[in-house]
Amino acid sequence: MPRNAAQTEIYDALGVGFGPSNLALAIALSEQPERLRTRYLERTRQFGWHRDMLIDDATMQVSFLKDLVTPRNPVSRHSFVAYLHQARRFHSFVNQKTLFPTRIEFHKYLEWAASDFEHLVRYGQTVTEIGAWQDQGAVTAWAVTATGPDGELSTTLTRNLVVATGLTPSLPAGVRTSRRIWHSSSFLSNLRDWQPPDRPRIAVIGAGQSAAEITAHLYKQHEAAEIYSVYSRYGYTQSDDSPYANQVFDPQAVDDFYYADQQTKQSLYRYHANTNYSAVDQDLIEELYRRQYSDTVSGRERLRVVNLAKISQVREIGDKVRIELSSPHLDGPLDVDLAIFATGYRPMDTDGILAPVLSHCDLGEDGRPLIGRDYRIATRPHVTAAIYLQGGTEASHGISSSLLSNTATRAGEIADSLTRTGRAATTLPVSVPQE
Ligand SMILES: Cc1cc2nc3c(=O)[nH]c(=O)nc-3n(C[C@H](O)[C@H](O)[C@H](O)COP(=O)(O)OP(=O)(O)OC[C@H]3O[C@@H](n4cnc5c(N)ncnc54)[C@H](O)[C@@H]3O)c2cc1C
Repeated sequence: MPRNAAQTEIYDALGVGFGPSNLALAIALSEQPERLRTRYLERTRQFGWHRDMLIDDATMQVSFLKDLVTPRNPVSRHSFVAYLHQARRFHSFVNQKTLFPTRIEFHKYLEWAASDFEHLVRYGQTVTEIGAWQDQGAVTAWAVTATGPDGELSTTLTRNLVVATGLTPSLPAGVRTSRRIWHSSSFLSNLRDWQPPDRPRIAVIGAGQSAAEITAHLYKQHEAAEIYSVYSRYGYTQSDDSPYANQVFDPQAVDDFYYADQQTKQSLYRYHANTNYSAVDQDLIEELYRRQYSDTVSGRERLRVVNLAKISQVREIGDKVRIELSSPHLDGPLDVDLAIFATGYRPMDTDGILAPVLSHCDLGEDGRPLIGRDYRIATRPHVTAAIYLQGGTEASHGISSSLLSNTATRAGEIADSLTRTGRAATTLPVSVPQE
């Protein structure tokens, strides 16, 4: 709790995390006639979007028309087209005839948009806990505790909270990152610092888009390297971005999913998982196959696929990483200089920071908070303060919950709900105790 609570400001809305989701929210709120007093707390020292996967040539998997704003407000001044215009690249971008810019360019767009909201963001602040601020038995605000860059603690009070802390990197059980064992989420930073031996052997574990991108990048950048692409599938599977399948990312699909019964939800998820999970763009699959084939022609196999692989153990022995695995095509352990796990992400993890307030929430049978269609956590009757989630709602709102596809629309829906809630909540008395 704040040491000098009397001087503590109470915000109408506080965002935890300032990635694309809460950036889209900041823009949506700035376009509303109603002005809410807002702040965002972001762990990193500056704005960034998956910086360690900004691999040269890697392209977006969503059309630039699904930027931070266009599906919600096509005349917003924060669109990708507005960015291109001010960057004086509009015509040259159009000449490429693509809907899918490189991730590097999209990152520049996001940075450009974020720069307009610098005054609302406190960077270098890691939120560690959220507590309930009680006033005569009612929870009227949330107390958000964060750790700053030098370990200093601060607490911010807010009537409404929007948690958008993003996906959590996932590793197989028992695997820990180290100098020689990386997760794809820190790929480029680690690669910059890596001192490879003369003829490095590298294993890339996983069969999704990130695994394929990393494999292709290493193949191109490290000519002396021998790369093992290790996965449990038979081969890379193509992501389905055909028109009917793509409808699963439309805003309408959120309603279809949200109001469906549990069995239909599970079926929908299963049917459409290959639009996003463990699936790779066709061009990239073809590029990798071409490279592997030309290796067989030249007689120097630099890219080897170890498919149907079941990994049982990963450990460091001296300056090598030993991967114990069983595969029809590899007899015995695989010893490499570097193992990169592109094994994906878990949905947004709110359990840690929200744990102290769960007793004020309505929980489902699984013990997790129930979420309204407007992404607001259902709370007990004595709670007037609100918590919204951007991400982590795959089970209630469907596959687009953590993706950019629906970010503009979702942020608009939350902004509308917040403006209603914020206005109502600001009329409630919040007594701030004197020190
Ligand atoms: C390599 C890669 C490429 C992708 N490409 C696409 C794509 O092309 N299309 C698509 O639709 N989706 C894509 N995704 C999915 C991705 O989830 C979204 O692109 C997007 O990042 C979601 O935005 P977000 O703001 O919800 O989460 P994030 O971008 O992850 O942002 C969350 C922010 O919260 C901050 N944070 C976390 N914890 C705390 C804390 N405790 N306190 C304060 N701050 C905190 C983080 O530092 C981060 O800045 C991709 C994902 C990856 C990993």
